[in-house]
Amino acid sequence: MRILLVEDNRELADWLTRLLRKSRYVVDCVHDGIDADAALATQSYDLVILDIGLPNMTGLELLRRFRQRRGLTPVIILTANDAVSSRVAGLDAGADDYLVKPFEPDELEARIRAQLRRRQDSRTVRVAFGPLVMATDARQFTLDDIPLDLTAREYSVLEALLLAGGRVVSKAALTGTVFGLDDDATDNALEIYVHRVRKKLSGSSVSIGTLRGLGYALRLAA
Ligand code: CA
Repeated sequence: MRILLVEDNRELADWLTRLLRKSRYVVDCVHDGIDADAALATQSYDLVILDIGLPNMTGLELLRRFRQRRGLTPVIILTANDAVSSRVAGLDAGADDYLVKPFEPDELEARIRAQLRRRQDSRTVRVAFGPLVMATDARQFTLDDIPLDLTAREYSVLEALLLAGGRVVSKAALTGTVFGLDDDATDNALEIYVHRVRKKLSGSSVSIGTLRGLGYALRLAA
């Protein structure tokens, strides 16, 4: 899952980025309205966390522009202002939810999970491929009932392959899902993460097949 975080307070932005990465989200972080507008116009995200007070373009203006371009990604706004009028303005501009600063990390994470759940099928909490099971709520994989220890990128690789349900995922699509804006997203880099995930699946009946020139797909041994 890829999140765009837009926050001009560097300290808060760094703290949130670390927090979200620890929860295995792939995070792009930008610090002003213009950069955020460019990121939203060129990249695809599963969720946006948007501060309202931003240099160069306010969060509300940014959100209005995004919705006018038919951007459907869920947006959670962060506001320093608890006034009803400010929350209403955010929701009117197209926000799906809001949090008033200061907030607890647990609350932000719960709101994120709620938005992501709404976007997927709300009843799909467990997705399985043979002995490989992903619990979307806990953001945890198990293999033969044993939790898999995965980094954020490894989790993204396996999540994209699992959600494809055995169909081929192209290298380009996988690269877009796994890497953020700051990263050196090369085919080689992707192969490294696929290799690591393969090692973690080894010894089970699930493996990652390579379809030369096409991409990767999960395979189940008979
Ligand atoms: Ca701000």
